[in-house]
Amino acid sequence: MSSSSSDPELAFLDRTLRIPWFDRKRMKRLRVTVVGAGNTGSQLLLQISGLGLREIKIIDRDIVELSNLQRQMVYSEADIGEPKATAAADFLKSRLGYLSTRVEGIAADVRFAELPESDYIFSCVDNVSARRVLLRHCLEKRIPLMDTGLEFYESQAGHVLLVDRETFPDGACLNCYMDLSREIATGGCIAAGITYSGGVVASVAAGMFVQHIHGRLKRNFFFTDLNSCTAEFMFLKRRESCRMCCKEKR
Ligand SMILES: [Zn+2]
Repeated sequence: MSSSSSDPELAFLDRTLRIPWFDRKRMKRLRVTVVGAGNTGSQLLLQISGLGLREIKIIDRDIVELSNLQRQMVYSEADIGEPKATAAADFLKSRLGYLSTRVEGIAADVRFAELPESDYIFSCVDNVSARRVLLRHCLEKRIPLMDTGLEFYESQAGHVLLVDRETFPDGACLNCYMDLSREIATGGCIAAGITYSGGVVASVAAGMFVQHIHGRLKRNFFFTDLNSCTAEFMFLKRRESCRMCCKEKR
């Protein structure tokens, strides 16, 4: 593949298409929904937007605030007060003109909105109840759910968990990993945040996604704790007592 290709999409994707196993057609079929466009979600969007996907839908209920600009590079000063979902979509569109990827921002609370048809969902939300809604939806529709999150209020640790019964029939669901039955008051994210922890988690999630789509993913779980400088990919097994796994029709 040459960067002098007359097809601008091929030229745009040139460096990635040099990866021998990268299957452009496979990527081009995928409709992806990213729920949450905060620290992790906005960085994830940067990571996956140039892959030549068919469609990216961004769902977020929040508006852009000044304190977001420090970590969330898809937003600029002009976006303050605007919905994150549409501001992030506009940013992606501004730099993806060479791709046929359709990008749409949906300013909504995922707990009360109808989820769009999609082939893959990324959960980058900051609350348990939204995670529960996404997990239920993905188990029911049998579509992969890639959950990302930053743990602890110091924001130095984070995880990525892929829930996909096709690839990992005995893998943990999100409720196996964290108790989704808890009701936690959600008034926006009040946790600490710093750019790099969201970036690590977002990059790993994007990498696991590409490996997964190409049938190359060997582990369903990643965890890093930057306080102790540890990071690990592993297989996280389902918990037999998990109520959401039990309810699932297998
Ligand atoms: Zn489970």
